[in-house]
Amino acid sequence: MVDHARDEGGRRPHGDGRHAVVIGGSLAGLLAAHVLAGHADRVTVVERDRIPDGPEPRPGVPQSRHAHVLLESGQLALDSLLPGFTAELRAAGAPRVGMPEDMVAWSGGWIRRTAPTTHIHTGSRDQLEHLVRRRVLADPVIRTVESAEAVGLAGDALRVRGVLLRERGGTNGTGGGTSGHRQRTLAADLVVDASGRGSRAPRWLAALGAEPPQEETIDTGQAYASRVYRNAGGHLGTEALAYWFYPNPSQTYAGGVLPLEDGSHLVALAGLRGQEPPTDDAGFTAFAARLPHPLLHEWLRTAEPRTPAYGFRSTANLRRRYDRPGRPAGFLATGDALCTFNPIYGQGMSVAAMSAVALRDALACPRRRPTTLRVQRALFDASRQAWDISAGADRAMPGAVGNAVASRAADGPVGWYLDRVQRRYGGDPSLVGPVFRSVLTLTTPLSALFAPRVARAVLFGPVVRPPAAPPMRAETAGC
Ligand SMILES: Cc1cc2nc3c(=O)[nH]c(=O)nc-3n(C[C@H](O)[C@H](O)[C@H](O)COP(=O)(O)OP(=O)(O)OC[C@H]3O[C@@H](n4cnc5c(N)ncnc54)[C@H](O)[C@@H]3O)c2cc1C
Repeated sequence: MVDHARDEGGRRPHGDGRHAVVIGGSLAGLLAAHVLAGHADRVTVVERDRIPDGPEPRPGVPQSRHAHVLLESGQLALDSLLPGFTAELRAAGAPRVGMPEDMVAWSGGWIRRTAPTTHIHTGSRDQLEHLVRRRVLADPVIRTVESAEAVGLAGDALRVRGVLLRERGGTNGTGGGTSGHRQRTLAADLVVDASGRGSRAPRWLAALGAEPPQEETIDTGQAYASRVYRNAGGHLGTEALAYWFYPNPSQTYAGGVLPLEDGSHLVALAGLRGQEPPTDDAGFTAFAARLPHPLLHEWLRTAEPRTPAYGFRSTANLRRRYDRPGRPAGFLATGDALCTFNPIYGQGMSVAAMSAVALRDALACPRRRPTTLRVQRALFDASRQAWDISAGADRAMPGAVGNAVASRAADGPVGWYLDRVQRRYGGDPSLVGPVFRSVLTLTTPLSALFAPRVARAVLFGPVVRPPAAPPMRAETAGC
C-alpha cells in the first residue's frame, strides 16, 4: 500500500495485516475501497448512514434527488474498474442518450441534432450507486461499518494511524453494540477521506497538528430544484429523449428534462444566487418560463408530477490542495472531499471513478514508490480538467464569489478563444462540435481544442448558423 515496500507485481503481498479505512460509502469511497482491496488485507468502509439494500435515497447523499448524468469518461472508468458495469447499468434500464442527436439542447443557441459522438447515461443516482455498491461489497476483503460517523483522525502531524468513530446503533461485521453512541478508534495503515463536499478532514488534520490543505473556492450561488414527472407524450420519448438548457454569463438560468430508468422523467431547474428556483407547485412551473425558450415550460404544463420538488443549494466549486507537500503520510482524499464541482456540468461521479482508476494506476506503478504525496497528486490530476472546466466557466458568471474567482493572466486570450469555440460548437457537427464535446465529457484533454486543425477552424472558419428554432427532430431522422 502507500508508503510501504511492495512485491514486484505492484500488489502488496497479503497476510501482513495491512488495513485501509475509507470514510464514506458513496461512489468515491466504494470505488477507492475496490482498488485498495487489491493492496490490503482488510478494507473497512465507514459510512454514517445505514446502507440501504436497494436503490434508495439516503440522508448522506441528498443530491441523489437531482439529475445525475454519467459522462463517457465515467462510463469508461467504471468499466475499467468493474468490467461490464455499463452493460449492467443499461440492463437495469438506465437510459442512454446520444449527444447531440437525442437531446434538444440550447447553449447560447440551439445545437444541431446530428449523429452522436458520445453518449450519457441519465438514470437515477440511487440506482447507479446501488449497482456499484452491489459489485464492490461482494468482495470479502471489504467490510462496512455503517451508521458510524468518523469524527476525527488518530496519529500525529507526520502520520495518520486511524479514524475516530462515533457509532450510532448497529454495525455490520464488527461485533459492535446495537443502540446508543459509542466512540472508538479504528486503527489503519491508510485512511482515505471520501466523505464528500462537507468533509471535515481539514479540521481533523489541524487537530493532529498537521497543516490543513489550502482551499480554493468559486461559488455562483447556483441553486437547484428537481422533480419527477410522468411524461404526457409529445416529442419527448419519441423524437427526442431529453431537453436541456445550459447557462452562460448572459443567460444564467439552466435546466431540462432527462429520462429515468422507470420511464419517468426528472426535471431540473437551476438559477444563480438571487434567482433560486422555488419548490412549490406553481413557483416551480413558473420558473421554467424563465429559460430562453418555452419548450420545457410547455412540457411541464402537460406532464404529471410524481414527487414533490426538492431543492439543493450547496453547489460551490471547492478544491482542497492536498497535493501540496506537508501533509502527514497515510492519509488521502478523493472524490468530492478532494474536489467538488458545480454540478451543472455533470462531472462529479465521473471524476470519482477516474480518481479510482488513478489510484489503481499509482499504486500499481512498478517504477515509482507510491508515497502518499505521489498518490495524492495522481488523484488531484484526475480532477484537474473537470476543475478547469467548471471553475473556468463559473469564474465568468455574474456574482461569483470565492478566493479563486480572480482571473489568471491566461484567462484573457484563452477566454476569448473558448468563446469562439462555443460560438462554433452548436453548428459544427464535424470538427469543433465533437472535439469540444469530448473535452466536456472528459475523454479528451483540453489541449485538443488548441490542436492546429481545430485552431484553424476556430480562428478562421465561419460561424455556421445554429438552428433558429428548437430542433424537434434529429437531422439523422429518416436516414
Ligand atoms: C445537485 C447535484 C447534482 C449533481 N449532478 C451530477 C451529475 O449530473 N453528474 C455527476 O457526475 N455528478 C453530479 N453531482 C456530483 C455527485 O453527486 C458527486 O460528485 C458524487 O456523489 C461524489 O461522490 P463522493 O462519494 O465523493 O461524495 P458523496 O456522494 O457526497 O458521499 C459522501 C459519503 O460520505 C458519507 N459521510 C459523510 N461524512 C461522513 C463521516 N463523517 N463519517 C462517515 N461517513 C460520512 C456520506 O453519508 C456519504 O455516503 C451532483 C451533485 C449535486 C449536489
